[in-house]
Amino acid sequence: MNLLEANGKALLAAHGIAIPRGALWPQMPPGDGALVVKAQIPAGGRGKAGGIRFAAGPEEAGHAARSLLGTTIAGHRVDAVYVEEKLAIDHEHYLAVTIDRDRRCPVMIASPSGGMDIEAVDRDRILRLPIDPLLGFRAFHGTRIARFLDGGALAPTFAETAEALYRLAMAQDAELVEVNPLVVAGDAVIAADAKIVLDDNARFRQTGHAQADGASGASALEARIAEAGAVGVEIDADGDVVAVVSGAGLMMATLDLLRSAGLKVRAVVDLGGTVLAGGEGLRRVLAAVAPLKPRITFINAFLQTALCDVFADSLAAAHAGTALAGKVVVRLKGRRAEAGQARLEPLGFTVHEDLRPAIGALTLAQEA
Ligand code: GDP
Ligand code: MN
Repeated sequence: MNLLEANGKALLAAHGIAIPRGALWPQMPPGDGALVVKAQIPAGGRGKAGGIRFAAGPEEAGHAARSLLGTTIAGHRVDAVYVEEKLAIDHEHYLAVTIDRDRRCPVMIASPSGGMDIEAVDRDRILRLPIDPLLGFRAFHGTRIARFLDGGALAPTFAETAEALYRLAMAQDAELVEVNPLVVAGDAVIAADAKIVLDDNARFRQTGHAQADGASGASALEARIAEAGAVGVEIDADGDVVAVVSGAGLMMATLDLLRSAGLKVRAVVDLGGTVLAGGEGLRRVLAAVAPLKPRITFINAFLQTALCDVFADSLAAAHAGTALAGKVVVRLKGRRAEAGQARLEPLGFTVHEDLRPAIGALTLAQEA
């Protein structure tokens, strides 16, 4: 579960980390000073995507908030806007805790070059400090981080902030707690942003998140597809292709393949168990996808257990119920693939057993 910034910051504050004074629009933080107006979406990179606005005072902030509400940023609709006092930033650091799957332990990541271009920072400007979960966070971890961030007189504050971040991550079963930027303003160290991802598998022992329940991070489309029993991920709001794929591994491979072929992907759907659920399962998935009116639908079915002709019949029945608009390309491979192909071609679908010609057909359709 991806927390929205405002909810993430509330957790930071609860763990003793300083945050700017802020409020959810139409509320405002106290004072008449300059403000930052921030779209609350479960995604980062808002600064570059136009989701962060600066305002000289409350009136301007109100205009900015109204103009952000209801827009779509990075594929997410803006349903809430957070308004904060604007910090006079002297420096932007980066500080995070995440789980290092290779090392099988939490790792703290710190950089003195925080801010919007963190992805481009040189490796030697990034500290990765593994924390033995049995020992936990120790004073020397704090010292290492503070020194790496060139803390100077603020070194104790950096060390305390790092320890608080670690404690928060462990207490909340977080997969990621990221503060970027961690701002130095005068003699204060303040979390100007918060990106927190909680482990959904630990929800059963994390009860206090009623306020965050609405912020699962799933878009309306993703929620519809989940209701249909499949797994959907929106990729690019301007994409042309919706890929419906038989299995999670193949879904990832398909996404890579489509991208490397230069195809613009709107969304990917893993049919999961609905492959075997007969016509009704597929009908529900197509009904969830159809409102997108995809220009191109790519159905990539490489079936291990299910029979291709049975799958094709289900697909034909689902299409009869909810017709897919636009071009439909099917890759159908597995037992009785030829019989399946014979059932789908009369519907006007382009059907191939091999991927290469299927991708070729998609490329042609995108160029058309
Ligand atoms: P993100 O792009 O989604 O990570 O959003 P952030 O909350 O990190 O904001 C992006 C950038 O806006 C930051 O890296 C800062 O450079 C700038 N910014 C955010 N809050 C403030 C602020 O209070 N004062 C100033 N001067 N800049 C800010
Ligand atoms: Mn940020």
